[in-house]
Amino acid sequence: MARHTIDGHTRTVGIFGDPIAHTRSPAMHNAAFQALGLPYVYLPFHVRPADLVKAVHGVRALGLLGLNVTVPHKERIVRCLDSLSPEAELCGAVNTVVNQDGQLFGDNTDGRGFLNSLQEAKLSPRGSEVVLIGAGGSARAVLASLIRARCAAIRIVNRTQANARKLVRTYRRTGDTRLEALPLDSLRDPAVLSGVRLVINASSVGLHGDEFLPLAYTATQAGCLFYDLLYRPDRTPFLRHARAAGRPVMDGRRMLLHQGALAFSLWTGRPAPLEVMDRALRRALRQTA
Ligand code: NDP
Repeated sequence: MARHTIDGHTRTVGIFGDPIAHTRSPAMHNAAFQALGLPYVYLPFHVRPADLVKAVHGVRALGLLGLNVTVPHKERIVRCLDSLSPEAELCGAVNTVVNQDGQLFGDNTDGRGFLNSLQEAKLSPRGSEVVLIGAGGSARAVLASLIRARCAAIRIVNRTQANARKLVRTYRRTGDTRLEALPLDSLRDPAVLSGVRLVINASSVGLHGDEFLPLAYTATQAGCLFYDLLYRPDRTPFLRHARAAGRPVMDGRRMLLHQGALAFSLWTGRPAPLEVMDRALRRALRQTA
């Protein structure tokens, strides 16, 4: 693998987040830049909410090639940018910024990354019923992508009902998919789960080692896929229960990889070296396990 020295030609891509120490994206992208011999470097920046606007001005002033954006900036950065992709506009959130000669373009690759990972698992959501748990930033990106993929129906189950209802109102007009907002205790109801092809955890439950919500796992069809956006497979009680019920499971690592690969192509104009990025990501996740 060609190693690049940092010199006067090196361009920088950054990731803004608070906290940022946990990010594995630098490992993934620096491995990809090196593999393709590109004179780019990817650096984490700990940007506190109060400093976001100044930090975005810094992207223009310093000529950064682009950015990834993570919690808690994905929504707030929208107002600081010059243009948005239709997807970012719809989600009201950005995870990737491209600096086009000082004009900052915001996109959201989370939903497309999610769909690419489903495709790898040979699951086409077209015409299917889906349960989506959560109504936060990642749920919005996944929801937009599932509607575009022409799901028949999506039940959005969330702790705060008002947030789920808001998603139903916002996204209802964007496609033909039937949308419904339900409370958390509906996950115990076999009727809610019986016809479902895919159950997605897009909530942050499990992130801090907490137990998952009561859910009628065995009421689902035998082939129903349980998908947790959490990318730490050791930390997902949702998938542990689904596996125990004999259902196929998938964690968020492939989504993380694919959203990164899409961002890589936006910055470089090149196809991403997926295997290189996958290896680097796995290594980084193992090191911090
Ligand atoms: P947000 O903070 O935007 O949303 C959190 C959601 O979880 C909300 O719907 C919230 O409900 C719900 N929630 C939080 N705590 C509880 C609880 N105790 N009980 C029930 N519901 C709860 O988070 P994100 O959407 O950014 O992230 C969600 C998950 O997705 C995280 O685990 C994150 O790591 C993962 N993720 C994975 C990605 C990947 O590439 N694999 C990409 C992005 C995120 P309420 O509305 O009531 O507050």
